[in-house]
Amino acid sequence: MLGLGTPMLKDAHDGGARAGTLDLPQSELEELGRAFARLALEYLSEPEALPVFPETSAEKLSGLFGGGLPAEGLGLEALTRACAEVFRQSRQNGHPRMFGYVASPATPVGAWASLAAAALNSNVTSWRSAPGPTQIEQTAVRWLAELIGFKGEGLNETCGGLLTSGGSMANLNALFVAHRTQAHDASRRGLWGERAPATLYASDQIHLSIPKAADILGLGREQVRVVPSDEEFRIDVRALRERIESDVRAGLRPFCVVASAGTVSTGAVDPLKEVARVARDNSLWFHVDGAYGALAASTNAKRALFEGLEEADSVSLDPHKWLYTPLGCGCLLFREPERARAAFKGTEEGYIKVFEREEAEAFAFWDYGTELSRPFRALKVWATLSFYGVKRVSAAIEEDCATAAYMAERVRAAGDFELLAPATLGICCFRYVPAAARLELEDEGQREETNARLDRLNERVMQRVQRGGEAYVSNASLRGRFALRASITNYRTTRRDIDLTLEVIRRTAGELEG
Ligand SMILES: *Cc1c(COP(=O)(O)O)cnc(C)c1O
Repeated sequence: MLGLGTPMLKDAHDGGARAGTLDLPQSELEELGRAFARLALEYLSEPEALPVFPETSAEKLSGLFGGGLPAEGLGLEALTRACAEVFRQSRQNGHPRMFGYVASPATPVGAWASLAAAALNSNVTSWRSAPGPTQIEQTAVRWLAELIGFKGEGLNETCGGLLTSGGSMANLNALFVAHRTQAHDASRRGLWGERAPATLYASDQIHLSIPKAADILGLGREQVRVVPSDEEFRIDVRALRERIESDVRAGLRPFCVVASAGTVSTGAVDPLKEVARVARDNSLWFHVDGAYGALAASTNAKRALFEGLEEADSVSLDPHKWLYTPLGCGCLLFREPERARAAFKGTEEGYIKVFEREEAEAFAFWDYGTELSRPFRALKVWATLSFYGVKRVSAAIEEDCATAAYMAERVRAAGDFELLAPATLGICCFRYVPAAARLELEDEGQREETNARLDRLNERVMQRVQRGGEAYVSNASLRGRFALRASITNYRTTRRDIDLTLEVIRRTAGELEG
């Protein structure tokens, strides 16, 4: 027993039975715990037991899980059997050959910490609602900032940011604060005219959550000025500077530059130091979208790529990607959290009014983001870092990157694959190119037609590989070409898995061609 305490009013509790309780008798409570623990343990101890993608269909799933609302309870046994079926009918993000999108396995520590957080069910709105969990979140946020080398002002005092449901919400909150802060500064200095559109700048590799955020904020998607990227998919800094200058001359109101610290398609890292300079020269908010890649800054091998990150006004990162915590856990960091507080400050409703006098105890997360009720996301971050330590977590990230580099090497060495982007972090983009097509590509006259045919072939290969259940790759569109994309944020993936996956792709392509 951990000795969580003895109830002070035991007698009153005993005397106060009620008919409508959802509490369970002790034996049933334990049986429930054992049943679900067995399910989770079995899953965590055999990550390759199930195919990467289930052999299923929407029709089958509707038959299995689309039933009516039960008036009477099913009982524990039927429920756990149904839950086991849910596991079997899912795509396995923990499988070592799951390379699609950015999908990470949950660490066992993260998974059990999530269960503990759910049992406690704190509502992490503020210190007074959840004193321990609020401190844990502040600590987790500070640790994450330190991990990626982001030293904000005020990070050690109250909080340099907060955890969110994911990177999309982190980006949305960041752009809101950026816009509010810049609009406020500009109007104070009498700079912005009334109606000219406020514009923000990002490369053509930017994640879709940025234009979406611009839309939600009422700025409009067309106010995201798309700047071309270079050969290696990093923002063209000179084009960025020119675009901003010409927009200013045209009377627009640039307010923010968003750089990618790991683009979602190829993992390219924008030259952050140079982008920071452009932002500074033009008095713009500098946001770094590191949802995919920022945590790689914790590794010795990749740290140098992220130079300039420390100059950002805000940074998004996703513990549910490269810290391997269960979904959903994003994080937004502010260099000066006070600006976020000023942006979100509104007229406070009576019921959330804070009466605490001491500053730390008056702390509220609603001052820094959109959510009021918030789950205890920090426990899984804090537990993961506490249990494994930074060295072990960074080593796992570093090995993911090395495994992606190995894949790129295998692709380059093969006669029937073509590498389509450098494997900067943990992503390898490539395509299958049979020998005959390789010759045709060298011929200017045939190139377009051959490329179109390869696009179709690789798309069919991807679909068939995905449904085959042996490995799962997704795709990227790179300069109009269809690329197979393998993303590795998985501490289980080995070089053998890479070899097997390339073999599966080769075999599948052969079947489709033959
Ligand atoms: C994943 C990702 C996002 C969105 O994060 P979610 O956690 O999926 O909401 C934003 N930007 C980049 C670069 C990403 O990789």
